[in-house]
Amino acid sequence: MAAVPRHIASSNRPIRSVRRASPVATQSRIARRYLTWHEVPTVMSECLFCKIANGELPAEKVHDDGELFAIKDINPAAPTHLLIIPHRHIPTIADLDDETAGLVGRVYRLAADIAREAGAADNGYRVVSNCNRDGGQTVYHIHFHLLFGRAMGWPPG
Ligand code: 5GP
Ligand code: ZN
Repeated sequence: MAAVPRHIASSNRPIRSVRRASPVATQSRIARRYLTWHEVPTVMSECLFCKIANGELPAEKVHDDGELFAIKDINPAAPTHLLIIPHRHIPTIADLDDETAGLVGRVYRLAADIAREAGAADNGYRVVSNCNRDGGQTVYHIHFHLLFGRAMGWPPG
């Protein structure tokens, strides 16, 4: 595994990225470092969430505004477990750049709207995105889990 720079490993302060834009169809360099070639889809036509986005595969969609859509997770980890997914194929949150980073704010706005409309805002909810192998990412098209309906534990497993 790549060494983590000490100033990052020893601190939980936010890290500012200065990475420049990379082509969105390019798989994450980090994912490629951890996964063998057959584990990471190399073209968008093989991507599960691209297939759901374009209607090739079915899903229980609860929202679609053309930029972001939300579906029910097939294997829910809470009474309500939705996935908020940009239509645009970006493999991991590590691949966000200056052009695409604004998506993340809109994801959190949408999560807040969905939770509020469901009456879950006061009790609370969790939004989480897993990145690469150690983060627990299994689908390499960015998505944000929105969970509510039970008290969440911390730290996560
Ligand atoms: P990750 O593991 O990448 O953070 O999240 C992927 C999520 O996608 C998992 O929670 C998994 O249950 C969900 N998932 C995997 N395949 C499908 C599918 O075909 N349909 C739906 N709706 N969810 C899926
Ligand atoms: Zn995709």
